[in-house]
Amino acid sequence: SNQAKARRIAVLGSRAVGKSSLVIQFCENHFVDSYYPTIENTFTKTIKYRGHEYVVEIMDTAGQDEYSILSSHHASSVNGYVLVYSIASRSSFDMIKIIRDKILDFTGLETVPCIIVGNKSDLNIQRQVTLEEGKELAQQWACPHIETSAKHNENVAKIFDMLIASIEKANNPPSEE
Ligand code: GDP
Repeated sequence: SNQAKARRIAVLGSRAVGKSSLVIQFCENHFVDSYYPTIENTFTKTIKYRGHEYVVEIMDTAGQDEYSILSSHHASSVNGYVLVYSIASRSSFDMIKIIRDKILDFTGLETVPCIIVGNKSDLNIQRQVTLEEGKELAQQWACPHIETSAKHNENVAKIFDMLIASIEKANNPPSEE
């Protein structure tokens, strides 16, 4: 149909990896250097994918602990997850593994549409997580991976295009015959 489809996306990851910065860069086209919301924020943007319009509601979990979104009333209606780490933080990379386990525990699913995002690619000098490690984890989880810079607006829109593609693939699996 020609009607826009609604999709809900949650952005999760350790504190200060750039979740808010990515969402604001994508939805409002600017970089904020110090943005400290204390509550959950929801942004909306319309994306075109394969000729269809998608009204995408993006839940930014800034200011909350990593898991509160999963136990919130929203969780059952989340269509896909952006799992963000900073390439300059090993612990933030380890955290997305813990978060994904929590998502699977909470939903009872074996897999969920998600994309692994290594943000702060402009901080290459401080890199603690290699591109290969990110790609390896993505292969393990059969999901896409991308390195981004919210600061330089690199690959930011691609996150959401790729995730919408994954969500639609999960919704319309190829026929087995
Ligand atoms: P959140 O807690 O995950 O939502 O992280 P924020 O979006 O608040 O960002 C945390 C800090 O990292 C802020 O000082 C941002 O300006 C900075 N930051 C976010 N994205 C980038 C990036 O791509 N490159 C660099 N160098 N800094 C970034």
